[in-house]
Amino acid sequence: MRRIHRRALAVTLLVALILGLTGLYAARQMLYGGSWAGFPSNGDAFISGRIRAGTIKDRDGEVLYAVRDGEGRWAEDETTRVASLHLIGDRAGFIGSGAMFHYAGTILGYDPINGLYSPNGQGGVLELSIDADAQRAAWEALKGRRGAVIVTDYVTGEIVCMVSSPSFDPEDPPEIPADDTSGVYLNRPLSAAYTPGSIFKLVTLAAAIENLDDLFERDFHCSGSAKIGGGTVTCGRAHGDMKIEDALAESCNCTFAALAVELGGETLKEYADRFGLTSRQEVDDMRTAAGRFDVGEAGSFDLGWSGAGQYHDLVNPAAMVRFVAAIAGRGDTPRLTLQRDYTHLGVTRDHILAATTAEKLGEIMEYAVQRTYGPDNFPGLKLHAKSGTAEVGTEKPNAWFVGYIDDPLHPYAFAVCVENAGSGASQAGKVANAVLQACTQ
Ligand SMILES: [Zn+2]
Repeated sequence: MRRIHRRALAVTLLVALILGLTGLYAARQMLYGGSWAGFPSNGDAFISGRIRAGTIKDRDGEVLYAVRDGEGRWAEDETTRVASLHLIGDRAGFIGSGAMFHYAGTILGYDPINGLYSPNGQGGVLELSIDADAQRAAWEALKGRRGAVIVTDYVTGEIVCMVSSPSFDPEDPPEIPADDTSGVYLNRPLSAAYTPGSIFKLVTLAAAIENLDDLFERDFHCSGSAKIGGGTVTCGRAHGDMKIEDALAESCNCTFAALAVELGGETLKEYADRFGLTSRQEVDDMRTAAGRFDVGEAGSFDLGWSGAGQYHDLVNPAAMVRFVAAIAGRGDTPRLTLQRDYTHLGVTRDHILAATTAEKLGEIMEYAVQRTYGPDNFPGLKLHAKSGTAEVGTEKPNAWFVGYIDDPLHPYAFAVCVENAGSGASQAGKVANAVLQACTQ
């Protein structure tokens, strides 16, 4: 009897194990079936690197890519094709961020219940959160210069614009030499990390707001240069006497380098880490490039410059827009997505900044627009922003402009970086204005 009991127990355990594994497999198939089915080497899903069926549309239903009679075609309009190359993907499959690879299950019309592609062979429709008008506006405003433009809805996390330059027409791809150094296949908003320059002062300012009780009562003085840690930090001109709001609006290096030294490298690093600027961030199943903040020696010249966004600092544009979205969202930032209405079941938000700090930062960014950037340069937009002009050892610095608009109908946060373009506010600021005008039409 005892033996029978033991056998019955063994059989029960075995059955439980099989049921458990089957359940696990079913659950994983529900979750990942689309991406398994859409794996580029799956012959049922892809023909010579291109997806076999389906359509990719923008948020207003404009077709960005469609397969008809077995032939995949990009958008009809050339500017749309070039502006959205890194978003959709290229013919040869060199662009790893292409939607046709990352959302293949949806595009093919994969059904997770029965594991079949759309029975009529037409495939499915992927609705991107992207606005094709904003894509074209960003591309045209870049005027052939290299750079990254990303705009996201800070309430839902939907990315409405993501443009990378240089680019090419996927319907007529050029010969690209093997030793090409332009990074043409790189989707810069997701995969590049740039020296931030003065946009990093938002991080230093956040740390100062939370750690220096008398920050808003203090008087700062800039004579155009300051001795810090055995070196000299310089400003473009002597900013004179000012409060912290003016120091940000004027982007005073002397003030921010001194604040960085006072706060200490460990504190600044803690804030950069907390804001997600040093780690890889998620955009659906993709990951951004990680940024970098090296702790300079206490009291040093390097630490001073790191607090002003130079030294070894690096940030990724998507991670930066996620941080700015937290300023707009009273400390909460939504998970980024490229899929339209993906968030109907609820938005996942990360709380990365105290609400009161976010509010203060937002006020000072609005003040910077009023005082320095000029509201007339951004007609109709309730803009909050910070510019950056990042020295990168080339003739002209990289131009940055980041911020958000206070507009319940168009709650957009943005990050624009134009490489070797010169002044942040005038060069990247112009691109940001063109894109935001298109987004708010
Ligand atoms: Zn100064």
